[in-house]
Amino acid sequence: MRIYSHPACTRHDPGPGHAERPLRLVAVTEGLREHFSDIDWEEAPRASRGQLLRVHDDALLALVLDTPVDGPMALDPDTVLAPGSSEAALRAAGAGVAAVDAVMHGEIKRAFCAVRPPGHHATPSAAMGFCLFNNIAVAAAHACDKHGLSRVAVVDFDVHHGNGTQAIFDTDPRVMYLSSHQMPLYPDTGYANERGVGNIVNAPLPPDSGSDVFRRVWQDQLLPTLDSFRPQLLFISAGFDAHKRDPLAQIQLETDDYAWLTHQLMAIALRHANGRVVSMLEGGYDLAALRECSVAHVAALREGLD
Ligand SMILES: [Zn+2]
Repeated sequence: MRIYSHPACTRHDPGPGHAERPLRLVAVTEGLREHFSDIDWEEAPRASRGQLLRVHDDALLALVLDTPVDGPMALDPDTVLAPGSSEAALRAAGAGVAAVDAVMHGEIKRAFCAVRPPGHHATPSAAMGFCLFNNIAVAAAHACDKHGLSRVAVVDFDVHHGNGTQAIFDTDPRVMYLSSHQMPLYPDTGYANERGVGNIVNAPLPPDSGSDVFRRVWQDQLLPTLDSFRPQLLFISAGFDAHKRDPLAQIQLETDDYAWLTHQLMAIALRHANGRVVSMLEGGYDLAALRECSVAHVAALREGLD
């Protein structure tokens, strides 16, 4: 088990009052260092342009990487490009690529990428919803193209639908995308009838759904579908904003629900993927809940490992 992170990921600063703030990552990394003193930490490398171009177009790379920025610049009402943003975005995407290489080379079985900005809203051509590059999609595409995998799954339990990840893979049968998310809620996608080429599985949840509804949807619908796909590598878009204390949404999960789901996912990864899992931080906006849930998630990821 290894954690990938980089100090540059705290230097992407969308400005005062923004929910997706540098202190989020401080909360996560402090929590993990405190609870897991023996865990292996590695600095994330930068993603290369070639790795990013597997899922994004040239214009988005130029916007994020080549725009001269001397102060915060709004790309949309939620998404900001600031002086530290391009380096943070490169490290966040690079973490996933390095984690894929490490698990595929057998150095480790599991990795958690403690990075920001998050990624799952970024589409092939647009940064949006706090996201600049789609970190998990860059990693999944790397697993397919570089390591020749033909079945990888991206499981997304962030409270928002990962419209970007879905848009990137909805015609690519090598990648299954499974998501539970609140609806209605930003970005207003993720209806159950959005099925891609049979590789997209959406489970929208009404506001105020709690642990029982969440666990039932995963137990009855999403986990069996994932299991029958038999992924060779399992990715997790680990957003913790469905927690009951999160200010941006109205799903009422307890911290323990994240441990429960992570355990279920580990069992599937052990059955089909030789235990290989790459998890990446997405959302989570109550600092204490975010810290607590990250610790619970990583504790469950570590179980059964030496
Ligand atoms: Zn979210």
